[in-house]
Amino acid sequence: MYVNGESERLLGASTRQLLDEPIWQQLQGQQPDLVRARIDEALSHNQRVEFEDFYPTQGKWIELRAYPYAEGLAVYFRDVSERKAAEEKIHRLAFYDPLTGLPNRQLLIERLETALLDCAANGHSGALMFIDLDNFKVLNDTRGHHTGDLLLKGVATRLRHCVRVDDTVARIGGDEFVVLLQALDSDPAVAARKAHAVATKVLARMIERFDLDGHQHHCTTSIGITLIAAGQDNVAELLQQADMAMYQAKHMGRNTLAFFDPPMQAALNASASLALALRAALSDDRQLTLHYQPQFDRARRITGVEALLRWQHPQRGLVGPVEFIPVAEDTGLIVPLGLWALTQACRQLACWQGQARTAALSISVNVSARQFRHPDFVDQVTAVIRQCGAPPRRLRLELTESLLADHLDITLAQMARLRQLGVALSLDDFGTGYSSLAYLKRLPLDQIKIDRAFVADVLSDAGDAAIAGAIIGMAHSMGLKVVAEGVETEAQHRFLSERGCDQFQGFLLAPPLPLEALEAFIALHATA
Ligand code: C2E
Ligand code: MG
Ligand code: MG
Repeated sequence: MYVNGESERLLGASTRQLLDEPIWQQLQGQQPDLVRARIDEALSHNQRVEFEDFYPTQGKWIELRAYPYAEGLAVYFRDVSERKAAEEKIHRLAFYDPLTGLPNRQLLIERLETALLDCAANGHSGALMFIDLDNFKVLNDTRGHHTGDLLLKGVATRLRHCVRVDDTVARIGGDEFVVLLQALDSDPAVAARKAHAVATKVLARMIERFDLDGHQHHCTTSIGITLIAAGQDNVAELLQQADMAMYQAKHMGRNTLAFFDPPMQAALNASASLALALRAALSDDRQLTLHYQPQFDRARRITGVEALLRWQHPQRGLVGPVEFIPVAEDTGLIVPLGLWALTQACRQLACWQGQARTAALSISVNVSARQFRHPDFVDQVTAVIRQCGAPPRRLRLELTESLLADHLDITLAQMARLRQLGVALSLDDFGTGYSSLAYLKRLPLDQIKIDRAFVADVLSDAGDAAIAGAIIGMAHSMGLKVVAEGVETEAQHRFLSERGCDQFQGFLLAPPLPLEALEAFIALHATA
């Protein structure tokens, strides 16, 4: 009965023409049947309908609204192309990685959810592959981000070529890609073989040379695979499994693949229950304690102690930090845990301040990278020192080299603030990680601790002996004190002492001790 004026322009037909023939016969959109069905619906139910369709001849998205009107319909056409384009852009931004055009983590998770439902419905197993580029950071650091970006794009293209069109290839982080292989086979063993074949293909394709704007690059990858079988319903768990398998592949020497398997699952469960128990321990005063290991100067006088966490687990007995610190780091529990240790140590410092024997002693507290990276870290240290009334000069924080691997600017700024508080800073386990001498010069440190691995071998390994000697000489030239950790024999002590090492810590001199034993040790030492 009626069409709006805009229709003539949009559809290229006169109002007369539009009104004379059934409207659905005149539209050349992509869904003519749907148009007809909806218009029938409007007429028979006497209700308004609206829908949008793409019109290839016009190259436009057109919206049609039809209102019951007298004996027929009033129809309004409107060009909605701009809104459609905006919607599409928003969709792309929300679900795709702008660099490679691949689905992002968000879309991957949605597809994974669908895959799990499919798998439950038809029993077809699939696989999830976690793919990480080996040494990507080195390329980025040496050749710049532009070259790094080119590699990521190249990898994305190669990955797409390794899988079927229905499979999902996603980029979920810097150099982390995930491939979702759906409906591989109803037999999980066959599905696993197929996934293995795809991963092998990926490994082979990746080691072919990349040409990055004239720079010839060789790249390897590490791949972790987990199967998606009926009965699984947890997306996060699957991702974690594939991630764990990927780490396994890295441990196996990179450029290789690993499947997630039951022993790995057992380890995962164990660390999950450890995390749960650790959370409980944090609110139970009796489970956590600090032990203190004395540190000595060249004349074997005690200069301070290192605080080392101990966990009295209600069922398992004493659990060492080597076991629970990594779990605490993974789960973020390291932040409250570290704060707890720091608070205990500061209380102890405040308490020792008033006693002649202990007033000059320092306490070293270990700080893990994740804890140090926490934006509130320096404020927390400041607050704890104030609340406990601890002398800041007696507090020493032991940092690890992993802090130097990235965000060096933030690390430096945080360290400077800590130094301003009067807190001393030490670099722990020196020689095991990054060990960049160039960085060392830029850091506001007081001391470095030679890792016990070097100390253990100074007498048997000429290389380690030379390194230990060189570290001491170099540290001294930069005005840093050197502490040797893990000193177990007189011979080691003598060797390091002859090379000028300033302080010593290790079983030879004293093990880590509970507070009472430490105080007894100090008393004995003072009178000896
Ligand atoms: P670390 O900071 O290098 O601590 C020194 C470790 O060497 C301690 O192990 C200590 O018991 C051990 N040790 C001392 N003397 C000797 C020796 O003569 N020979 C040998 N072989 N080992 C010796 P522990 O207590 O098991 O601590 C292990 C690690 O756990 C620490 O290494 C530190 O990285 C971490 N840790 C301990 N407490 C904390 C904490 O409160 N926070 C954080 N973030 N990490 C902590
Ligand atoms: Mg330490
Ligand atoms: Mg150490």
